[in-house]
Amino acid sequence: MKRIPEPFRIKMVEPIKMTTEADRKKSLEEAGYNPFSLKSEDVYIDLLTDSGTGAMSANQWAGLMIGDEAYAGSRSFIRLEESVRTLFRYQYVIPVHQGRGAEQILFPTLVKRKSADNPVFISNYHFDTTAAHVEISGAKAINVLTPEAVDTGTWYDFKGNFDLEKLATTIETYGAKNVVGIIITITCNSAGGQPVSLANIRAASELARANGITVIIDAARFAENAWFIKQRESGYRDIPIGDVIREMFDYADVFTMSAKKDPMVNMGGLCCFKNDRELYRQTQVLCVPMEGFVTYGGLNGRDMEALSIGLWECADEDFLKYRIGQVEYLGERLRNAGIPIQYPTGGHAVFVDAGKMLSHIPSEQFPAHALANELYIEGGVRGVEIGSLLLGRDPATGKQKETSLELLRLTIPRRVYTNDHMDYVADCLIAVNNRASQIKGLTFTYEPEVLRHFTARLKPVV
Ligand SMILES: *Cc1c(COP(=O)(O)O)cnc(C)c1O
Repeated sequence: MKRIPEPFRIKMVEPIKMTTEADRKKSLEEAGYNPFSLKSEDVYIDLLTDSGTGAMSANQWAGLMIGDEAYAGSRSFIRLEESVRTLFRYQYVIPVHQGRGAEQILFPTLVKRKSADNPVFISNYHFDTTAAHVEISGAKAINVLTPEAVDTGTWYDFKGNFDLEKLATTIETYGAKNVVGIIITITCNSAGGQPVSLANIRAASELARANGITVIIDAARFAENAWFIKQRESGYRDIPIGDVIREMFDYADVFTMSAKKDPMVNMGGLCCFKNDRELYRQTQVLCVPMEGFVTYGGLNGRDMEALSIGLWECADEDFLKYRIGQVEYLGERLRNAGIPIQYPTGGHAVFVDAGKMLSHIPSEQFPAHALANELYIEGGVRGVEIGSLLLGRDPATGKQKETSLELLRLTIPRRVYTNDHMDYVADCLIAVNNRASQIKGLTFTYEPEVLRHFTARLKPVV
């Protein structure tokens, strides 16, 4: 497969440590067999997340120097507001410290306004912190993802889509008066960084609007989603990406964004409103005590400066072509070696189907987590489980929630690793695959109640 070369040159480098297999075995044991607890120093290629791990550009670094640190009405805030208004056509902007900052001020405000007996949010798929904040706000999080998403071996263009029929029946079952919001996650992280089509966004939005339900876009990877629409949806190939972005956002009322993803800042987020001034004002009321005054929301002036530049850089078509191309390159190397992956590859990561690769390990022994550990031991590469461990237990019954997807996510930070690094990662995983049958599952020695995957400790099943 032809590689798409990096559309940048490297001006500054950060050395990374090489370790031995013996070092890595010891580090992993100390980390309670949970790669989240490893020291980053002990990791050679860190594919844990694309969150806050992107490399800022020379322009973004320059932006840091001209940040306006005024407590109120900072020039950097005004520039950020202008960027949002131009790029998304959303009128009202609240900066927040990261995506969950937006969730913690928006969801309770929406729940309060709806004053439903049995509040629920419906999404193609709630991101993990998003589901947590829905639950904290006293509502229930329901996913209605297309069944195509779990058919990992087959190419479908838009595996992040809503199952529209299920969306309609879910609204009917709970009653529109109980549905606080419909959350459109673009791209759909949990399904494998898979895109949602404009047709699907439009249909979900029409259904919501016909029922008086607020439409929210979870926009962490908006530019990657727009790129996929341009490549795969008929009629969009020659439309400028900015127009695709604006059309996607036209179908929603509010967006929350973790700016640590596509916009390539180390920290930052947004909560923006198309034109609902009342909702904006009510959300501002929560912003002040939770995040900070409404023109900084937990961010430095310099962070807002870097963010308004990053919003434009991530929506550059040459950048996106390379970015999505690099992820696809790693995916193709694995596929050619017979390793099952979520196919086609998504925007920000390659998702390895550990359920298939380690089919001898039952899901309650976390096959994808076992695979993450083996990949670390093999070559110091840190990936992350997206499966039963992440999903956790049903808060009402205490039972492990069921999933048909046990995935290892290899998340590619933006502008950080070269394609040589991708080859190394592929070689390591191929070596692990060659000894797959000897890999053992895991069991808890410590299981936290909420978001357990971050701090759980485990041990291999003997
Ligand atoms: C990362 C992410 C969030 C949460 O954002 P944080 O910045 O980590 O708080 C929410 N939704 C999606 C889709 C994300 O990728």
